[in-house]
Formats: sequence, structure tokens, C-alpha cells
Amino acid sequence: MNPSPLQTLGVTGGIGSGKSTVCRLLEALGARVFYADEVAKRLMAEDPALRQAIREAFGPESYGPDGRLNRAYLAKRVFHDPEALRQLNALVHPRVLAAFEQAREQATRDQVPLLVLEAALLFESGADRLVDHVLVVEAPEAERIRRVTERDGISPEQVRARMQHQLSPEELRRRADFVIENTGSLETLRQQVENLYRQLTAA
Ligand code: ADP
Repeated sequence: MNPSPLQTLGVTGGIGSGKSTVCRLLEALGARVFYADEVAKRLMAEDPALRQAIREAFGPESYGPDGRLNRAYLAKRVFHDPEALRQLNALVHPRVLAAFEQAREQATRDQVPLLVLEAALLFESGADRLVDHVLVVEAPEAERIRRVTERDGISPEQVRARMQHQLSPEELRRRADFVIENTGSLETLRQQVENLYRQLTAA
């Protein structure tokens, strides 16, 4: 008998909604997770063609004398300049999507049942078009702010500032195939994730 084909699931949600936690729970169940934001950081630091493109677009200061990505400089360049941010994303996102395609091939070879693509900007980057289903993780704003101030040691205002860059909860929900409301305990979340995993990987 042929093994079941690989399923792919995009996971997104606002900051502090619990998407990383959901992904770790999915990993524990047997899924493989592609963390798009981490891959983006790695490619910006290491991919020669991307490094060259970033240098050309944003100047030699984009990398320090030791060759390391100058995150502080780039963040400053794009923070108040939507056009610069768009330009940076246009360089980075297609390469992340290409890396996901490689991860898909590898997951197929390894007979992994579910490959998850976790991305804060899943829709904005076009990554939603590469996956079979999209899961949006939701939690009330006050709860998200509380969780992130605790997790990252930043102020509620700083959390709100980060929220500005993301699609609204209503828009995310509209685009989702599945929604997990992360309003209960971690054990409740684990059960919700397990139900979804079983549904997606059922033969
Ligand atoms: P995101 O990746 O969406 O920003 P995280 O998964 O990192 O969010 O969750 C934010 C914080 O809230 C983490 O410290 C996580 O452990 C905690 N958390 C998430 N869900 C719950 C829950 N149901 N109960 C308690 N803490 C939670």
C-alpha cells in the first residue's frame, strides 16, 4: 500500500495568539514544522545571492565589517518606511517560499504525514498559496498582550505597535480553513491541536 500523501498546513495568527505553541504541539504529534521567520533570518544572514541583493538595495551598512547582518540598521531603515519594508520583503519572501518547496520535497521523501508552515505574515508573503489548509490561532487581544509582555519582557505599547503590522483578527478568520480559539489552558490547547492533527492525517 502507498503511504498517505503529505498534507501541508499553514499556521498563522496575531502576535501572542499561541501559534508557536501550537506548532510545538504539532511537532510532538509527528508533524514537521518549517518556521518561516527563522528561515528568513537564516537566509538573510547566510544566502550569498540574498546578501548581495540586500547590500545593493540598502547599502553596504546592511552587513557589519565581520560580515554579520546588521539587524539594527535594517530595522531602522524599514520601520517607518513602508516602501522600504515592501522592498525588503520582496527580496526575502520568494527565497523563503523556495526553501519551503525544498522542505516539502524532503518531507515527502521522509514520509512525514504533515508539514506545517508557521509564518506571522502567511497571507502577506503569499505563503498561504503553497499549503493545502490554513489554521488561524486566535486569542483575545488583552490576553495576547498579557502573554507577550510576559514572554518578551516588553511593554503593552510595544506589543500594540507590533500588532499594527498584522492583518486584523476578523480578516485572518475570514481567510482561515480552521480556527483554534486559544482561550483555555495549555491542556485544552493540546486537545484542540490533537483533534486537528487527527483530522488532517486520517487515512
Ligand atoms: P505566538 O507565537 O503566536 O506569538 P506563543 O505561542 O509564543 O505565541 O504564545 C505566547 C506566550 O503565551 C508563550 O509564552 C506561551 O507559552 C503562552 N501561551 C500560549 N498559549 C497559552 C495558553 N493556552 N495558556 C497559557 N499560556 C499560553
